Amino acid sequence: HEPLFAICGRPNVGKSTLFNKLTETRRSIVGDEPGITRDRIYGEVRWMGRAARIVDTGGMVPDDEALIPSEIHRQARVALDEADVIVMVVDGRTELASPDYDLAKFLLRGGKPVMLAVNKIDTQQMTAAAENYRRLGFKTIFPISSEHSLGIGDLLDAVFEAL
Ligand code: GDP
Ligand code: MG
Repeated sequence: HEPLFAICGRPNVGKSTLFNKLTETRRSIVGDEPGITRDRIYGEVRWMGRAARIVDTGGMVPDDEALIPSEIHRQARVALDEADVIVMVVDGRTELASPDYDLAKFLLRGGKPVMLAVNKIDTQQMTAAAENYRRLGFKTIFPISSEHSLGIGDLLDAVFEAL
């Protein structure tokens, strides 16, 4: 079957924006149960003649619960169980907080290829700021701007390389 990669991260870091950019879809509604995300969480990414499925695991957890440790672990477990490669996304404009460290630690212990995307790095001048996020412990970090389509190609190269 087609390989799968997962996007993880706390609310508001830009997971849905990245998902939509990678799948070239508009946000589309999957269900209207209260408290359940309305974002689409599965999609398909094509890159350099290859294809992979993608899942936004953040979309499985309601935003107001996504910082609860058990929910962080639930999100990470889904990623580790289902995915071949995992991309954790952080917001390059906000301070790291304990949920980021928890999620990173859990993912890094999972034995699967994981990489870090530092999102909202909208200008070249901001790339130095992304270095801060190395303290999460990832070997490979990618400064990206999902909104302005910066760094996305390098990230996809690495993801498909690892799949
Ligand atoms: P999610 O909760 O992780 O799915 O985050 P969203 O994709 O819903 O994005 C949260 C907010 O961050 C929205 O207002 C987006 O427009 C904004 N955002 C996402 N990506 C970028 C980016 O690359 N640069 C900037 N400046 N804002 C972004
Ligand atoms: Mg989202």
